[in-house]
Formats: sequence, C-alpha cells, structure tokens
Amino acid sequence: MLGRKQLLIGGEWRDADGGKTQPVVNPATEETIAEVASASSADVDAAVAAARAALDGAWGKMPARERGRWMHKIAARMLERIDEISKLETMHNGKPITESRHVEVPMAIECLQYYAGWADKIHGETIPVKANGFVYTLREPLGVVAAIVPWNFPLLIAMWKVAPALAMGNAVILKPASQTPLTALMLGEIAVEVGLPAGVLNIITGSGGTAGQALVEHAGVNKIAFTGDTSTGKGIMRTAAETLKHITLELGGKSPNIVFPDADLDAAVRGASVGIFYGKGEVCAAGSRLLVDKSIKDAFIAKLAERTKKMVAGDPLDPKTRLGAISSKSQLERVLHYVEIGKKEGASLVAGGSRADIGTGKGYFMQPTVFGDVTPDMTIAREEIFGPVLAAIDFADVDEAIARANDSIYGLAAGVWTRDIKKAHYVASKLQAGTVWVNTYNLYDTSAPFGGYKQSGFGREMSRYALDYYTQVKTVWVDLTQ
Ligand code: NAD
Repeated sequence: MLGRKQLLIGGEWRDADGGKTQPVVNPATEETIAEVASASSADVDAAVAAARAALDGAWGKMPARERGRWMHKIAARMLERIDEISKLETMHNGKPITESRHVEVPMAIECLQYYAGWADKIHGETIPVKANGFVYTLREPLGVVAAIVPWNFPLLIAMWKVAPALAMGNAVILKPASQTPLTALMLGEIAVEVGLPAGVLNIITGSGGTAGQALVEHAGVNKIAFTGDTSTGKGIMRTAAETLKHITLELGGKSPNIVFPDADLDAAVRGASVGIFYGKGEVCAAGSRLLVDKSIKDAFIAKLAERTKKMVAGDPLDPKTRLGAISSKSQLERVLHYVEIGKKEGASLVAGGSRADIGTGKGYFMQPTVFGDVTPDMTIAREEIFGPVLAAIDFADVDEAIARANDSIYGLAAGVWTRDIKKAHYVASKLQAGTVWVNTYNLYDTSAPFGGYKQSGFGREMSRYALDYYTQVKTVWVDLTQ
C-alpha cells in the first residue's frame, strides 16, 4: 500500500476539501494500492487561483529560456527516478513493465525535453503593412490550461499536454483519470522536489463528473486539453461553449489496418498483432479493424490466429510479459460483453475470447482475441472496444479497401501493408485518418504530430504543431507617421 495521496495546489500538498478519497486498484492483483484525494469544485477553484497567481507572478515574467531550464530539471529528475515511475505506471494500469520502462516513460521524458527546447524558439514576426505602419505579432500563452487525461497511457498522454503548455508559458492543472493518478502525482512530487515555482503545475485527482466537470465549467480556465472517450469529448465541447474556452480533443478510434496480397505477409501478421495487442488493445490508435484482401484472407487469419494463441497474459511486473492486465474490472466486463456481441452477430472466433488466469486466481486478464468473418455492419466492426479484440473484415480490391477503411465515424489512424509503393501512397492519400503507417504500425515520435480526423477529435499532440494549441497571437500596430 502506497498510502494516502493528496492534491498538489499552489506548490502544497493538501487533502480534498471535505476529505473525500478514492481507492486506486492494481488490476493485476485486485488490491487497493493507494487512497487518493477526490477533489471537489472548491479544490478546482483553489487550483485555478494558484495557476493564475503563478501567471501573474514569477512564471508569467520569466524569460522563455528559463522556463525551458525548469523543464529540463524536471526531466533530469524523472530520468533518475525512471524505474520507480515505470513500476507505478504498471501497477495502476496493468501494462507490462517492458512497455512502461522501455517505451512510454522514456517517451514522456523525451517529450518534456523536446518541448523544453522549443520554449525560446517560438516568437512572433514583423509584417510589412502600409507605408508608415509597422506591425508585429507576439505569441502569448493562453493562460490556465487544464489537461484532462485517460487511464491508458497515464503519464505519456499527460506529458503530451503538460510539456507544450509549460514551454509556451501557460500554468497547468493536470487531472489524471481516477483509475491511474499515481504517475501524475509523482510528476507533481518531482516538480516540487526540483523547486518549480508554486502554482505552475497543479495536480487535481478525482472523478471526471466532479473535478473534470468543474475544470471544464470554470471561467478561470482558458483551455481544456482533453484525451478520452468520444462521448465525454462531446460533453466537454458543449460545456466549454459556455465560456468559449479553447479546446483540443483527442478521442476514440476504430482504426483500419489494411493488408494487400502483395505485402510481406509475415511482417503484416506481426504488424496486425502489435497493432491490436500492444497496451492490451487499450490504445486509441489500435488497429482494431483488420482489412484483408479476400484472396489471402484464410491463410492470413490462420497465421495470425496461430501467433495469437501463443501469446499469454502474465504478471505485468515480469519483464518477460507482453500482455498485461486489463485496466479495471469494468473495462474487462465491457470487453467480454463485446466478445459476446461478436459471437451473437455471427462472427467466427478464431482465437481467445475469454477471461484469462495467470495462475493467481486474481487480476483482470483477458485472452488476446481474434474474430474472423466480420462484416462491416457488425457492432464489433463499428464500436471502439478498447481491449485486445481484433475484427477481421475482407475486401475485394483497392477501392473497396479504402471505402471500408473510411466507413467509420472515427479517423485516428490507419495501417497499409503492400510492397507496391504507388499503391501505398495512393491509399495513404485517400484514408481519412490523422496518422497512416505504411508497412508498420503503432510508431510514435515526439517530433511527429498525432491526432484525429472526424469524431476522433481535433488539434494535434506532439511536434511543433502542438505549440499552436497553447499560444494565442497578438497583433501590434505602430503608427510611424511623423
Ligand atoms: P473518459 O472519457 O472516461 O475519461 C477521460 C478523462 O476525462 C478522465 O480523466 C475522466 O475522469 C475525465 N472525465 C470524465 N467525465 C468528464 C466530464 N464530464 N468532464 C470532464 N472530465 C471528465 O475516457 P477513458 O475511458 O479514461 O479513456 C479511454 C478513451 O480515451 C478511449 O475512447 C480512447 O480511444 C481514448 N483515447 C484517445 C487518445 C487519442 O489520442 N485520440 C489517446 C488515448 C485514449
């Protein structure tokens, strides 16, 4: 038990107003590992006041380069504590330690370093206008940014928002998902440890319905940077309209992974597997719809099923584990419910389909699951399951592949497998998706933008593109007539 965790507001740790707490459960053991403060709207008021005070004080006056130095200090301390952070990430989420320690926590630190470097490189320009006039622009922070994040990549997705927001001179209130608040709290602990000025980074833990909603409604919050469910995103957009906040929304997906017959089929089988089973399939960009050319479908699905059956869930803290625990009991139930729907609607289960036991009799584990003979109208082909469940659909030719790929309300990502370079670029140009991977899947880099088309949201995370969503442009006119 990690004990009781408090809110970080204005550089100080405190209990929630009213003293409410909520448990954090390790999904691999079903044990409560911490009790975390559950913030009320009064706590949100206090966090907004603290963030505003930081903007009006030292943080708002600080030269941009110095902001970058603070971010580097936090990154350096995170590197020193990387094992501890990774272990926590695995314990509250259930993801394999190899994913936390060797992929996601290093990427989060790299993201902070990347944006620390941008802090003093974003500036306005001078614009030639009429004679005797002089116009220049300033890139100013938006003010108080609330980052509201989900439970699937707790630290990484938080950092995609916190890092560009700080680099551009905003003050941040970070609200992690109630299931996975521990690494956000550790980020707060590290910020305090290195001496980041009070109020620059506040951590508010608690429920979406109370703490999250209060942030979205608050007139003192200038921007909501949100990642989560599409339906929550729609609600946020409606509520944020009342105060006309800036918003960016990174939402759900049902991404197609398209395999043409001329692909390297062994590589495509590996790509289909990584595309759906990395992160237990709790990945917004998961390649959850496998589109396979009719002529190779049976052989391809047979190979994939064989590979899938060899993949077994294991203790997330074991470095050899590649499939961890589903993040919560309710998420496991949701995934199993979709498996039942798939069976009822006539899809054929070719691998998995049941809850798994790793020998402890505990934990929310799930067999990696593949459905064949899925038709585009089936529920499992249309709705985001957010678990290790793949729906395989066939297509007859390139046009049908594109049409089926785009036949979704979502447009987050897509994969294309072919050796034909012309076809690869053509299909990439036709896909309605924010990211297209060719002959690979699930690659990310801090320098490359990521975000959605259609109901997968708007705005971009990472890269220089994200900076635009954390600044506003001021135009200054100077009259030069004498
Ligand atoms: P969720 O929408 O339930 O919760 C996300 C966050 O919003 C949590 O912190 C939650 O407490 C908060 N929240 C909930 N209700 C709120 C409200 N009314 N007002 C303000 N905040 C509220 O989503 P989740 O189940 O935690 O995450 C899974 C979803 O996230 C999936 O749909 C997945 O596809 C999506 N996702 C998208 C991306 C992307 O980049 N597009 C990345 C990861 C996850």
